[in-house]
Amino acid sequence: MKTIYLDNNATTKVADEVMEAMLPYFTELYGNPSSMHTFGGQVGQRIRDAREQVAALLGASPEEIVFTSCGTESDNSAIRSALMTRPDKKHVVISRVEHPAIHALCSHLGSQGYKITELPVDKNGILDLENLEKSMTPDTAIVSLMWGNNETGVIFPVEEAARLAHEKGILFHTDAVQAAGKIPINMKNNVIDMLSISGHKLHAPKGIGILYIRRGTKYSPFLIGGHQEKGRRGGTENAPGIVGLGRACELAASNMEKENTYVRRLRDKLERELLNKISQSRVNGDIVNRLPNTTNISFEFVEGEAILLLMNELGICASSGSACTSGSLQPSHVLRAMGVPFTMAHGSIRFSLSVYNTEEEVDFVIDKMPAIIERLRGMSPFWKQAGQSGGVQ
Ligand code: PLP
Repeated sequence: MKTIYLDNNATTKVADEVMEAMLPYFTELYGNPSSMHTFGGQVGQRIRDAREQVAALLGASPEEIVFTSCGTESDNSAIRSALMTRPDKKHVVISRVEHPAIHALCSHLGSQGYKITELPVDKNGILDLENLEKSMTPDTAIVSLMWGNNETGVIFPVEEAARLAHEKGILFHTDAVQAAGKIPINMKNNVIDMLSISGHKLHAPKGIGILYIRRGTKYSPFLIGGHQEKGRRGGTENAPGIVGLGRACELAASNMEKENTYVRRLRDKLERELLNKISQSRVNGDIVNRLPNTTNISFEFVEGEAILLLMNELGICASSGSACTSGSLQPSHVLRAMGVPFTMAHGSIRFSLSVYNTEEEVDFVIDKMPAIIERLRGMSPFWKQAGQSGGVQ
């Protein structure tokens, strides 16, 4: 059975070009970049090249890039650094729809005596910047808001938010794990202090990420050890991962246009056809301010997990809520924050596409989904209670 992979916000296929770039660093070029000998030194040179490739995607300078192990490490490091470098300040502002890499960390910090403000979003997942302005106090160390939401794709106005934070002398971090490579980012045009990226969301492997730290930003390392990354992150560099991420960023920079047209067209077709063919279905999140590859659709009166199981039988991969929250039967915190009604939130499926998806795959999904929903609604007591029948058009 062919796999139709529509779960690219969970993780992506490693691009062939990325794999090819990485392979020599497992086989022949396995030296330690910190070694004095030429054998290790040549790996160091390649890491410098990769740093430049990553910086180019972000419109940043290479020395502003710190390699980490993942988006979670980058997010954690940014918040903790702000609190370490501003020890007199005990307040952190985030939104209610952040990824657990920020959300769970902040819950933990809350239990350690820090004050956490979680900004609400409206029914479309949009953030009100007036609420942000009101939330910041002289005690605020950092504001951290995601650039693109992993569940709905909704884009936050982070550049504007960073300006507002700066006016009050507050640091600003953004989790750009889902945005990077999908929408243009140019750090020269904004005042964002720190930004997180994860390799496995943009066709590089798992286990590599970056934290962008704007030149001049005080930084306190999270991993303390060797002098790697100019003392900003101890630990021998993941050379193959770094080389792979560099190549992936280079590809993303040149494919961005394609992503914005080809992937968006496929996503829009999938969304339009599913909404047309299946009654009581709707998109969660703003449909304009959105990453080009993501659609989150609720099918009322059915369980997302049950939909996923039937899709899985046909080789179709997607998510209900975010990959990190599936397994729990609670509707996702993102949909709850948006006030999506319970019967809708439970039946939500996130489809996230990539440049590797084809029109035939999308047509297959459009063809199969109505029968899946009809079958499940036929078994749903809620659907029957609501007096519905023949839900699929
Ligand atoms: N932030 C967002 C928005 C994400 O979607 C994810 C992963 O799903 C992360 C952070 C965590 O990244 P990683 O899996 O590299 O730790």
